[in-house]
Amino acid sequence: MRPASVSLDLDNLWAYLKTHGDPGWESRPSFLATAVPRLLDVFGEHRLTTTVFVVGADAERDDGAQAVRDVVAAGHEVANHSWGHEPWLHRYSRSELEAELVRAEDAIVAAGAPRPVGFRGPGYSVTPALLEILAARGYRYDASTLPTWIGPLARAYHNRTAARGAADDLFGGFGKVLAPNTPFRWHGTGLVELPVTTVPLLRVPIHGAYLLQLHQISPRLARGYFRAALRLCLLTGTTPSLLLHPTDVLSGAEAPGMEFFPGMAVPSAEKAALLGWVLSVLRRHFDVVGTGEHVDRLSGLLRERRTELCG
Ligand SMILES: [Zn+2]
Repeated sequence: MRPASVSLDLDNLWAYLKTHGDPGWESRPSFLATAVPRLLDVFGEHRLTTTVFVVGADAERDDGAQAVRDVVAAGHEVANHSWGHEPWLHRYSRSELEAELVRAEDAIVAAGAPRPVGFRGPGYSVTPALLEILAARGYRYDASTLPTWIGPLARAYHNRTAARGAADDLFGGFGKVLAPNTPFRWHGTGLVELPVTTVPLLRVPIHGAYLLQLHQISPRLARGYFRAALRLCLLTGTTPSLLLHPTDVLSGAEAPGMEFFPGMAVPSAEKAALLGWVLSVLRRHFDVVGTGEHVDRLSGLLRERRTELCG
């Protein structure tokens, strides 16, 4: 069976509020103690080994460090999701970027995980400097890109009603239409890129928040959409990398201040049931692993690409 991967971006409540422009983020409210056990339960039920992209600032606090230990004890890979979950990371200077990555690595290791070899940026963007720093630090893969043409809709996940209007270059990097939807090796650094898979040919998102929006309209629609997306993956030889978030199992009451976010009206039990169904369907068609192992399994087969980057 062909491989597929499931990864979880362990974005905390404060990180959503920060991206949304809500000053309440500064007190760093957290829902990790609720979300992490629930997610690990769902993964355990489906006997899945996944990858959890951890934010360094959370790994430095008690509940985040506990989350890292629980994730490692359950056999999952821990990867780097930056230190401060800064949406403007792609605007950082090279030295700021490196400091951000190193601080996150150190926090993750101090919390009890092996030194990460995978990275996903908080804004679905990559820059040449980022790739060079990752390669120099011994990373094997980047998983930041989200190859969708639906810019405004994709941005909606991170910045739906933020008033600043400054979200326009949140997804900076390279042209989304041209961005590959299948893994490849970056020319130059040799780093593997594992994109967050979007629906082949249509290039619309598959991940949790999108499915939950459809589920709110009609549960049958959400399931039909996911089945169709997987069918297109099978037809086009795409090995999907599915992205999950804590909000995929949390109710609105468990994420105070996130009423702006899609799918928050769905009760948590209903969300967990949908996630369980998604994972079971994925497992029926693919050998589901974490992103690091997904990269390892494809490694010998990947083509090198000279994808043009700006910024
Ligand atoms: Zn994130």
